[in-house]
Amino acid sequence: MTTLLNIQIEQIANIQIAAYIFASILFILSLSGLSSQETAKKGVIYGVIGMLIAISSAFLGGTINGIPFIIIAIVIASIIGIIVARKVEMTAMPQLIALLHSFVGLAAILVGFSSYFDTGAEIHDAAEKSIHLVEIFIGIFIGGITFTGSIIAWGKLTEKIGSKPFIFKGKDMLNIVLLLASIVLCVLFVGSEGMDGKLYLFIATAIALFFGVMMVMAIGGADMPVVISMLNSTSGWTASALGFMLGNNLLIITGALVGSSGAILSIIMCNAMNRSFFSVITGGFGLEVKTGKKIEGKVTSITAEEAIELLKDSQSVIIVPGYGMAVAKAQYPVFELVEKLRKKGKLVRFGIHPVAGRLPGHMNVLLAEANVPYDIVLEMDEINPDLPETDLVLVIGANDTVSPGAQDDPSSPIYGMPVIEAWKAAKVIVMKRSMAVGYAGVDNPLFYKDNTEMLYGDAKATLNKLVAGIE
Ligand code: NDP
Repeated sequence: MTTLLNIQIEQIANIQIAAYIFASILFILSLSGLSSQETAKKGVIYGVIGMLIAISSAFLGGTINGIPFIIIAIVIASIIGIIVARKVEMTAMPQLIALLHSFVGLAAILVGFSSYFDTGAEIHDAAEKSIHLVEIFIGIFIGGITFTGSIIAWGKLTEKIGSKPFIFKGKDMLNIVLLLASIVLCVLFVGSEGMDGKLYLFIATAIALFFGVMMVMAIGGADMPVVISMLNSTSGWTASALGFMLGNNLLIITGALVGSSGAILSIIMCNAMNRSFFSVITGGFGLEVKTGKKIEGKVTSITAEEAIELLKDSQSVIIVPGYGMAVAKAQYPVFELVEKLRKKGKLVRFGIHPVAGRLPGHMNVLLAEANVPYDIVLEMDEINPDLPETDLVLVIGANDTVSPGAQDDPSSPIYGMPVIEAWKAAKVIVMKRSMAVGYAGVDNPLFYKDNTEMLYGDAKATLNKLVAGIE
């Protein structure tokens, strides 16, 4: 009887391992699917199936107690998730993601502490015990940084906290001292007996929570996209650390996938924005606060009727969308305008900046939603060489991503960030509601150029007028 039971348990364990491997493969396929617009939908489906397999196979093996409570929690969480996902505006997606990352951080702290205080799981082998304590320490530490860092990122993105970097004298020194103190605390924690190490763990948790706040508070405006992707990465490493603590291979693999893809994305973004990756991940190490120089010159504006005439006279048009297009939900009239202009035989293309909007790929998603063909949507590096030969650039709610200050004003907070060189076209029309600044909080010299005309108003309302005017 006992032998039969043992064989059954072994078989279930094998099924669980196979299911975990299958789910891991689906997660890898999901990531590769998400790398292009054409395959993104498939990528999401792979991810959902992988997650369903992962959750259901976690129940196998019979080591989990209180399954009914877990199921109730999953149902409640799923209902909340569906409601939030359906309600959230595309423009509010980054703050939702930041908030979700904070949950991963909090989960790591809670699992870490419960794993430490779980007296039932006593480990007798000294080496194994030390490894387990290191896992707990690292898991709680990264989780703490992720938790508070994500909450601050959420605050900054929802504009509940100012987007300007918070930097004070001695900040870098303080960070170094706290980091060294954390290493010492880890050594003391691992070397302590029984529950004697709990004080070290509490102090380290407080330091990690403080680190998270400091790190993201020190990052401002234009560097926020990198922070979001970096927090995505730390949430992945947190999940991996949880996997080690709980002895769950799937969590280790999934966490490593999220952690490394987030880190790769952060590096790509830093390169694209000419930012130091080290400075961004260390909470603005060596960063100075910059405000940009005062711009001299005259701003001129035109009416929708005048803009229609300019569009009619132009043979090649490049549309540069930004955050304002997302706010105004103007992607649909943009598509109508593009169709009308193309029917008239004009060359119409889009120039997409890698950090236009409020999350990587934001503009691509909106344009795809409005059925804009992929082949006329070009990346910044592809479109920039064509700008000097372009008749008209239509900037729709973009600001920082088309600012010449990024190239010629060393005092600008976005100095060094590659931008779409809209000013090189023969004529530029900028559609926005006022002279207000963009996310980085700095004036844009483009608006003062001789070949630029401002077309004030809500992007959607203005585009509707343009669509109606082009016959
Ligand atoms: P910006 O944030 O620089 O500017 C957007 C402009 O849109 C504003 O100046 C605003 O001017 C205008 N706008 C707002 N609402 C409307 C509306 N209804 N109709 C017309 N215009 C409107 O946008 P960009 O896309 O150029 O740059 C993105 C910025 O966000 C960068 O600084 C980037 O670093 C940062 N960021 C990007 C993230 C990403 O991953 N992509 C994440 C976090 C931050 P007005 O009020 O006058 O209308």
